[in-house]
Amino acid sequence: MTGEYHFPPAPDSLQRERESIDGHAIPRKTHLAKRKNKPPLPLPSPTRPAPAAAGGGAARRHFRCARLPPRCAQLLLVGRPFPALRSAGRCVVLEVGRGELQPYGDCCFGIHPEKIMSNVPVAVVTGSNKGIGLAIVRDLCKQFKGDVYLTARDPARGQEAVAKLQEEGLHPLFHQLDIDDLQSIKVLRDFLKEKYGGLNVLVNNAGIAFKVSDRTPFAVQAEVTLKTNFFGTRNICTELLPLIKPYGRVVNVSSMVSISALGGCSQELQKKFRSDTITEDELVELMTKFVEDTKKSVHEKEGWPNTAYGVSKIGVTVLSRIQARMLNEKRKGDHILLNACCPGWVRTDMAGPKAPKSPEEGAETPVYLALLPSDADGPHGQFVSEKTVRTW
Ligand code: NAP
Repeated sequence: MTGEYHFPPAPDSLQRERESIDGHAIPRKTHLAKRKNKPPLPLPSPTRPAPAAAGGGAARRHFRCARLPPRCAQLLLVGRPFPALRSAGRCVVLEVGRGELQPYGDCCFGIHPEKIMSNVPVAVVTGSNKGIGLAIVRDLCKQFKGDVYLTARDPARGQEAVAKLQEEGLHPLFHQLDIDDLQSIKVLRDFLKEKYGGLNVLVNNAGIAFKVSDRTPFAVQAEVTLKTNFFGTRNICTELLPLIKPYGRVVNVSSMVSISALGGCSQELQKKFRSDTITEDELVELMTKFVEDTKKSVHEKEGWPNTAYGVSKIGVTVLSRIQARMLNEKRKGDHILLNACCPGWVRTDMAGPKAPKSPEEGAETPVYLALLPSDADGPHGQFVSEKTVRTW
């Protein structure tokens, strides 16, 4: 007994349904054509005891598919040689209920192993091959009960960081992600959607800052900094927030500099950035205007402070306030908590060796927000530092 079965054809309507379980259309020609030339194996009787999984004591992985009928809620994939199943393009066998193999009526016909969603909770940290992001991943690997994805724009740097954590006995997973590249964001989005059916924790940590001594023209610094810190973070949120599952947690790593930069804005700009009704489009317009104003060298006259990093982090903090408001309006019952935070002044490549905090200390507040317990109803839509809500 290999643990593989080929179920007899179902009526057409049922067939169609089976082929789109959980929204994953299974190409008809692949699995039907492959099946055509093979006589169906006899279905196991519901009363017959379950055969041993392939390979005797083969490792078994549990999955749950949200849209399956309750009796099929617990699925156990049987058959260790998944690669063999994959290459053969054959149906996977599912064991349901009390140790009995069943044809699963109209629910599980022909689901490919790769198409079955994992029910394991999943966390993603952007820009986590070094610095505070790496420390956040390390903490999540220790404290988060689920898969933790270390992401990096450069796969080599990312894999190196994964190896480093593996040496410490931790097991992060890796996915490439460049927040400046919409295609890269969409690939991650599709991967999460397909493999996990969503996302439980998102930490938007990736960021850049020009050194004070950098002689790059201010207008260029403004454009480059805003591109990653504000527009990149916003693009991630646009693509991944709809995937956040109920009780999910989102942390946007901003900075205390956003507060000091806000103080450096004109009264008119401060009013806009503190507004409880500012929209995401209006914020994008303001961030775009800042970049344009620097190109015309009129940014100070227009009420902007002389810090591109500061303005980009104003953008991240205000974006977080807007997103939290949107969650309140559109997904109130989902208990998602979203906040901006400052990690403090941390010894990293960005802030230099003189900063007082280690990356591990810098990770504390972001991790605290990422792991807010499921019965917490706040903080939400706040700017948090040292695990304390600050006035915006
Ligand atoms: P860091 O050591 O320079 O690390 C920044 C991380 O972001 C790196 O992994 C970098 O990847 C990644 N990154 C940059 N651009 C990216 C992109 N387009 N796509 C994906 N990843 C990208 O800085 P850090 O100090 O850890 O900073 C982490 C966050 O904390 C930033 O948002 C920063 O603004 C914020 N923060 C830091 C401090 C501080 O004192 N350090 C204070 C307040 C706030 P590469 O290795 O490929 O460059």
